[in-house]
Amino acid sequence: MQLELSPQQLEIQLHARKFARELMAPVAPIHDREGSFPLELLREAHKQGFLTPLIPKQYGGSEIGCLGACIQAEELASACMGIYVSIFVSTLALYPIVRFGTQEQKQRFLKPFCQGFSLASYCLSEKDAGSDPSSMKTLALPRGDHYLLNGTKMWITNGGYADLYVVFATRDPALKHRGILALIVPSSLEGVKPGEPIDKMGQRASNTTPVTFKEVRVPVENLLGGEEEGFKKAMAALDVTRPIIASGAVGLARSAMELASSYASRRVQFGVPIAQHGAVQTMLADMGISVSAARLMVWRAAWLADKGLKNTKEAAEAKAFSADAAMKVTTDAVQIYGGMGYTKWHPVEKLMRDAKVIQIYEGTAQIMRRIVAREMVREHS
Ligand SMILES: Cc1cc2nc3c(=O)[nH]c(=O)nc-3n(C[C@H](O)[C@H](O)[C@H](O)COP(=O)(O)OP(=O)(O)OC[C@H]3O[C@@H](n4cnc5c(N)ncnc54)[C@H](O)[C@@H]3O)c2cc1C
Repeated sequence: MQLELSPQQLEIQLHARKFARELMAPVAPIHDREGSFPLELLREAHKQGFLTPLIPKQYGGSEIGCLGACIQAEELASACMGIYVSIFVSTLALYPIVRFGTQEQKQRFLKPFCQGFSLASYCLSEKDAGSDPSSMKTLALPRGDHYLLNGTKMWITNGGYADLYVVFATRDPALKHRGILALIVPSSLEGVKPGEPIDKMGQRASNTTPVTFKEVRVPVENLLGGEEEGFKKAMAALDVTRPIIASGAVGLARSAMELASSYASRRVQFGVPIAQHGAVQTMLADMGISVSAARLMVWRAAWLADKGLKNTKEAAEAKAFSADAAMKVTTDAVQIYGGMGYTKWHPVEKLMRDAKVIQIYEGTAQIMRRIVAREMVREHS
């Protein structure tokens, strides 16, 4: 394994860093304050290829692989995790089509997505089915040439703006995992209705809504990956997308670490910069250790994914560790800023609010540990 970035990876990093610094960072506090969606910025992000890192070039994507996407994610999320997650979720939704879609589906859905501005959403969670999606109630009943889709998905990122939803639904709730299938649902189909945006603690630039599907007739050609395999395939796709969101957490934590280091070198108490006090040094050092360790775990999980090797455990480890690291690093950054950290005058309180949900979405911190433990037991029994 090469730990040095290749010239192509360095280019990916610089491109994303420039976009993050010049276009994302200046507007991030505004969207956070207003809870408004950065539609024009996303249009530009799409134009620059940030929404299609895992889509092959033959369909118009930027095809930079999982590690490339992670390098990009760290840079973009360092400017604003809320805006980054709005960019990222299209990858979460479309990667199952890349991986399990038919040639015809790829032509029909991936190509137009890459050609013009478009957003996609991933619809797995429901109000009463979060960590346990096998208890979902959204029904997809086979009716000859179509599935009849009925139900409400909850917490859908980009829900109010997506042109395409990848929806997980069940043929029969009694079948649990085995009953779950995945459907590609264009927002233009009759009966698709996003709800009002949810007012959130952090990542406020992202748009999170319920989405209701009422008597939606989804053509059978939009079934993704077969009737029996929907759930298994959804989980397999997460092994590739989890390192990417984990890398977003690294970017967010890195920003908090840089801000705290800079503040600690400027803020004087007891006649010296607070960076010279041992207790502050320990917090700064722990931040550095966490960010470096998280990045290495992310890169390992992504490297395995790009090699086509099994990485379920490593992806869950990276997601759990990076999310926890982001929470701890941002909390300590607020601590280092003292009272100033607790105000809206400085950016560290936003970073702390933005970090929290990374421990919740795409599988909670507890569910990640469940996966790690399950894989460990499998390996060693
Ligand atoms: C801002 C935001 C954006 C989101 N975006 C999307 C999206 O785009 N698409 C989508 O499908 N979903 C999305 N989600 C949903 C997210 O994935 C779920 O919130 C998450 O899976 C947890 O489900 P829950 O909220 O129902 O919590 P619950 O499952 O009710 O969990 C509550 C608590 O119990 C713990 N717990 C549950 N089961 C176990 C267990 N077996 N062992 C140990 N602890 C357990 C959890 O870890 C958690 O701490 C989003 C959520 C948020 C907040």
